[in-house]
Parts: sequence; structure tokens; C-alpha cells
Amino acid sequence: MISGIGTSGGIGIGNALIIPDKNANINITSIDNPKEEKDRYDKVKAHFIIETEKLILKLKNKLKDNDKVALVLKNQIYLVNDEELNKSIYDIIENEHLCAEAAVLKACDMYINILNSIDSDVINQRIVDIKDLSSRIINMLQGQEELNLSELPNDTVIVANELHPSITAAMDTEHVAGIVARRGGENSHAAILSRALEIPAVLSVKNAMTDIKNNDLVIIDGSSGKIYINPDKNIIEEYREKREEYKLKLKELKEFNGKPTVTRDNKILKLFANIGTDYDAHKAVGKSAEGIGLFRTEFLFMNRISIPDEDEQTEAYKRAVIMCDGKPVTIRTLDIGGDKDIAYMGLEHEENPYLGYRAIRYCLDHKDLFETQLRSILKASAYGNVRIMLPMITCIEEIREVKNIIAYIKNEFDKNGIEYDKNIKIGIMIETPAAAVMADVFAKEVDFFSIGTNDLTQYTMAADRGNENVAYLYSVFNPAVLRTIENVINAAKNNNIGICMCGESAGNPLMIPLLIAFGLEEFSVSPSMILETRKNISKWTYEEACNVKNAVMNMVTKSEITAYLKECGGRYGTDI
Ligand code: PEP
Ligand code: MG
Repeated sequence: MISGIGTSGGIGIGNALIIPDKNANINITSIDNPKEEKDRYDKVKAHFIIETEKLILKLKNKLKDNDKVALVLKNQIYLVNDEELNKSIYDIIENEHLCAEAAVLKACDMYINILNSIDSDVINQRIVDIKDLSSRIINMLQGQEELNLSELPNDTVIVANELHPSITAAMDTEHVAGIVARRGGENSHAAILSRALEIPAVLSVKNAMTDIKNNDLVIIDGSSGKIYINPDKNIIEEYREKREEYKLKLKELKEFNGKPTVTRDNKILKLFANIGTDYDAHKAVGKSAEGIGLFRTEFLFMNRISIPDEDEQTEAYKRAVIMCDGKPVTIRTLDIGGDKDIAYMGLEHEENPYLGYRAIRYCLDHKDLFETQLRSILKASAYGNVRIMLPMITCIEEIREVKNIIAYIKNEFDKNGIEYDKNIKIGIMIETPAAAVMADVFAKEVDFFSIGTNDLTQYTMAADRGNENVAYLYSVFNPAVLRTIENVINAAKNNNIGICMCGESAGNPLMIPLLIAFGLEEFSVSPSMILETRKNISKWTYEEACNVKNAVMNMVTKSEITAYLKECGGRYGTDI
């Protein structure tokens, strides 16, 4: 058995097809006539654009107009038309008398070297795109056909070093049982594409290209990341069963798509999605999220090498808002620091980053950046139902200072006739013990709370959320954390303000009865958890949930609480 990162769920069983790396042997020659060579490149470029447009069309048909995925290939068209890139290619042909293949390779490598100095998932992805573009053009210049994957045998498991977007677009996905690649992480295009196509995928598999041979029987588990190569009969049988169970579960969950979120005794709740990009809003709406409970805007800042300006931010927020068509979109202001570093913003190394210069603290100290973001959010509010949410609040001065800034911007907009939602709601994340203790006071300053249990747990238990050595303490089921959550919900309800939870716990099946009984009204979970959470909520009546809560709140250890909740979950048929 070998393993990697499971990036698209499900079980795939089939025969391996190894995709060889492109451009293993590039024929580099010197040329006498640069003009002819540039013409040759121009012709291939025009052909490349036509072929890429065909691929985009294919991909769009497969994905039912899922634009973001096709965007990956559209980017290649933008890039091949990029003036700087073309100038570099012409210059290399002209001045170094190199053939077009060598010029394309050299110019693209120059781009890649610049990007390589930036350590970011998104930039790594751009590098994959440029490599894909470069090798496709070189193939065309050498008169080689693009790899033909349009007709594959049933149950093919694709194995590649790197799954370039053009490979996936050309693939006969109907017959692909799974995808394995040596490179790629959770947010790589390969991962995004395979999830969108609902094909199980395991990426970052170190020895994929050496351990797996063409036609090997391969089982991949896209959830656990395990891969079996030519396994024995028992394992095949076990995974065939798992595959059927998985399909059944998906089918069952699909029945919750488009339905309201209600308890078994018909108490109506709201189920929102946590998103990181405006595109995720599309996914969330597809899973029938009733709004966005957390838009982590820092991802917008990570997806680049400089700060997005006001127009860009406005456009991104606006796209999410329009996509949600009147449903609430809760936009959280920039939450950097802690484990979220943005290289170009130059955050200094800190001894205790989680207790340091992060989120609202950073923003209030960088007013230009913060005001730009608030202006963009306010502008986007003219297009739907936007709420502003502030992260890492610890004291009332922070809330008041932000409210003053927002009032100032609104005033300026009024003077200049810029449209925005005059009644825009302002809320705070409750993710520090300080905010939780002061919840009854803070509730009088804001329109809503959203409980960020990821941080609230770490700060309440004084246990770093990423440190394995203290992971045994980092649990929302510690009575200290549960009591804190209950107090915060009570404070919100006593003051008639909205109360949401957007930390991971909101989708934890064991938490559901407690949250229903505490009186939580809005749950915000990752798009992939929406249907499961809606199903889990539907299993409980308020009275049953209260009985469970009453028992739990009298318990004093995490292990006693989780054991009891597991037993109850099993009894009520929720997914545990
Ligand atoms: C949280 O802390 O619970 C939260 C939702 O914010 P993040 O995970 O982005 O820190
Ligand atoms: Mg947080």
C-alpha cells in the first residue's frame, strides 16, 4: 500500500494508465532566419488558442458550465497573449538565434523562476499552468499530437507526475475511475477538477510513477489517501463494498439538496457555507447553502503577488453576492497572521504568532489597507445582502474603532452618491475568551455574533490548534469550551442579536444536538459538509436535543462527553 493526500472522496478501482511527461526530448537548434521562426511561432500560437478554446468547450460541457474550472484553461489563453511573454520569446529568437521551442521554454522558465521564489499554494498552481502551457506549445511546434485521452477503456485509473489542466480537460472522464498524481495538494487544480467531476483522487503520492505500472490493478481511496497496487481478493472485495456504501451515502445526501434546514419537529434553522473565494459561493449555492456564513477574504489576498486593489476586491465580493441572489453573504475582514502568512505583506516572525499581530490588530494598524477592504465590501453591499464580520475581537475599543471607520466611509459615499446598503449589519467573531466573557456587553454594540470554535477552542484550552503534542487538549468537547459556547449563545439571544457558528464544530455531527439545544440559529460549514449537516439536523427534535444537552452539561470530562454523544448519535442515526 502507498499513500498520498486524498483530495476528492470516493473509491476508484481500475487499471492504471501512466501518462508520460511531455517534452522529454526537446529538439533545440539554432536558426538563421529569425523572421521565419517568429512566423512559425505565431502560427502555432494561433493554433494553440483554437485548440484551447475547443478544450474549454469540452470541459464546460462536462462540468455543466462550471466556469471556474474552465478558467484554468482560459488563463493559458491570456498568458499566451501576454505582451511581456511574447516579447521575451521574440527577443530570444532574434538575439540568441534559438528555435521557437527553445525560446518558449526559456521564456516560460524565466517566469517560473520568478514565481518560484514565492512560497504559496496558489503561486505553485500558476507554475503548473505555465509549465502546461509551455509543454503544449512546444509539442505543437514539434508537430506532436496532443495526448489523446478522449477514448479510454472502462475503469481507467490515471497516473501522472502532475495532472495538467489540459490533460483533465481532454480526458474521457466517463471512464476514469480515479486519479493518482505525484504532485498536487488539496487546493491544486487537479484537486479542484477531480472534485468538480466527482472522480476519486489521491495526490502528492511520492512513488506514484515508479511503484505503479501500466495496467496494474489499482484501488484508490480518495478520502483516506490510501492506494493499493494489485491487491489480493479480500481487499478488492472490501473496497467494492466500500465503493457501494459511498455511492449510497452520496445518493442519500443528494435528497437533502434544495430542502430547508429543519429539525425533526420542524424548527427552522439556517445553514450557511464557509468560503475562501467567490467561486466557492458557486459551489455553496449548488449544495443549496442558504447564504455565506464566513467568507475568508484572506484567500483573495493569497491568490497573487501584491495586494488586490479596491476594484478587484469589489468585483470578487460582488460576484459572491450576486451568486447568492439576496441570501446573506458574511464577509470577514482580512484575518492574516497566526498560521496565515502572506509573503508579500512582510509580516515579521513572532515568538507567539497566534497571540500576536494578527487579524483586526493588523488591520487597525494598516488603515489604508483596511479602509480599502471596507470600501469594497460596502460597494458590494449594493448588490445583495452583505454582512461585515470582524475577526479576533478582544475588546470593545476595536469594535468602536471599526464602526467609526465604517461610518466615515458611509458618509463619504453619501456625499459622492456611491451606492451601498445603508442598513448593513456589522458582527464579530467570538473566538477569544475575552470576547466570550464580554459577550453580553459586546452584544449591545453589534448586530450578530459568529462563534469561531477553531480559535475559541485553542485560546480557551491554551492549546495551539496545529500542535500535535497538545492535540489531546484541543477539543471543543472540553466542558470549558462547551460552557463558553452556551454562554455566548445565551448572551446573543438575551440581547436579540443574530447568532451563528462558523468554526468546524458547526458541522460536527456530535455537536448538532448540543447546538440545537443551546438555541443556535445559524450553522456555517464548508460546502462539502452542507448536505451532511442538514441531514444530521433533521434527525433531532428540540426536546431530544435538550435531554442530551442537560446530560452533557453535567459531565466534567471530554472523554465522558464524547462517548455519550457517540452513543446518542448512533441512537438517532446521525453520521458519526
Ligand atoms: C475559527 O477560528 O473558528 C474560524 C472560523 O476562523 P479561522 O478558522 O479562519 O481562523
Ligand atoms: Mg479564527
